[in-house]
Amino acid sequence: MKTVPKFWFEPYPWIDGDWHRDGVTTEVLNPATAEPLAAVAVVDAAVVGRAIDGAVAAQRDWARTPAAQRGRVVGEIGRLLLRQKDEFARLLTAEQGKPYAHAVAEIDYAASFFSWFGEEARRVHGRIVPHPEPDREFLIRYKPCGVAGLITPWNFPLAQGAKKIAACLAAGCAAVWKPAEATPLVALGLAPLAAEAGLPAGLLQIVPGSGPLVGGVFAEHPQVPVISLTGSTATGSTLMAAAAPGIKRLSLELGGNAPFIVLPGADLDFVAEQLVRLKLFVSGQVCVTANRVFVDEAGHDALAERLVERFAAAKVGNGLDESVEIGPLIDGRACEKVGSLVDEAIADGARALCQNRGYENDESLRAGSFFPPTVLVDVRDEMRIAREEVFGPVLGLLSYRGVGEAVRRANETPQGLAGYVYGRDLGECRAVAESLQVGIVGINEWRPLKAEIPFGGVKQSGIGVEGGEEGIREFLDTQVISLPVPPLEP
Ligand code: ADP
Repeated sequence: MKTVPKFWFEPYPWIDGDWHRDGVTTEVLNPATAEPLAAVAVVDAAVVGRAIDGAVAAQRDWARTPAAQRGRVVGEIGRLLLRQKDEFARLLTAEQGKPYAHAVAEIDYAASFFSWFGEEARRVHGRIVPHPEPDREFLIRYKPCGVAGLITPWNFPLAQGAKKIAACLAAGCAAVWKPAEATPLVALGLAPLAAEAGLPAGLLQIVPGSGPLVGGVFAEHPQVPVISLTGSTATGSTLMAAAAPGIKRLSLELGGNAPFIVLPGADLDFVAEQLVRLKLFVSGQVCVTANRVFVDEAGHDALAERLVERFAAAKVGNGLDESVEIGPLIDGRACEKVGSLVDEAIADGARALCQNRGYENDESLRAGSFFPPTVLVDVRDEMRIAREEVFGPVLGLLSYRGVGEAVRRANETPQGLAGYVYGRDLGECRAVAESLQVGIVGINEWRPLKAEIPFGGVKQSGIGVEGGEEGIREFLDTQVISLPVPPLEP
């Protein structure tokens, strides 16, 4: 059994390179045991204002710092994260609940964004465009926007922040980061690393607190031109409305309802193995996880059988126990929400083939927010469980009669984040992938997300992208200078 590490940070907001040792505290609980991990001070509007002011002052020099130097600092934060990987992973598991191995994967993933954007900092360059009139030319430049407000959720408390912070700092901007209420610790853990990496004070401010409060300050503050949120679609919509009067630039990574299409003749052993990994990753609390599994009638029963076998055998428990494959959900409310979707689907005609409650016999898990890994068949498109993001370890199977029908039904949702296509004929897989109205598709791959590629949703799943060479653009303004070209001397 792994243990909760000793804290290398203090449970206070991090402002201008120091802990702001003040404020009302809230308890952070371990979702596997309900034990308190720490009391963290949360910010009020005045403290957020101070953080923004400090960021504005620090950003002026940062924007003038050579890009290569900024990049080195950003890359160094990633290197320091990897050096402290085990401590971060144990804290992440204690705070978020995910199994230790998933936590390690998250630290690696987070570090990859610091590494990637550390390199990209040097590749932000403009261009010269010929002018249609004589003796002039256009200079196109990309300039840092200033201070960005960053808001992240609890499912990947470090990586969701890392994606935004790395791009923001590499671009020459300052970041004011509000982690989720349930998971501020791992976020605060990043602060000493940023300082050690040589990041000047004020460029990364960390302000734990309420979403509506901090989001409201970001939306109203004239010196926060960009707000980047990863969260639910409802929160994205609320924030957009709040930011509308100030015409803020928004970058939104919102909810998904990913279709997972199993084509006729697919290798069902492989599909089952991949689908179970995808669905059990962070207990299904992932916006890109498979939400609707479309399988052709002929393969339906055989796939269901394989999924049940694996779900029934999966070990649920405290993620600090390394034999555990599925941790708790984030809190009791999340369990109730997933439970209501499952109960409603069953009342509507779906059948539960597996509800793995093995953890109920373990006394030490009694107070944790666990949900039984569940396989449902006879799910229909109109059920709430197929229309809403489930955010739990529940696999719902929907059968289809022709690939065209599967694609049409897969696209019948206002969300468009991720999709998955599994089959043997790669031409067919690719044609289906191209027809899906989503931002990213994995063909015979359960986790295609990487720092190297731009990731973002279409439709109501978001605006803008993170990662890739495009990710840094979210924090850059385009400026054009039209200038006369002096006549060339012979
Ligand atoms: P989830 O369901 O994943 O918790 P939320 O959208 O509720 O998603 O939360 C994601 C982040 O958005 C959290 O940091 C939360 O505090 C923040 N948040 C919630 N409401 C608002 C809001 N009105 N404005 C800005 N941020 C918000």
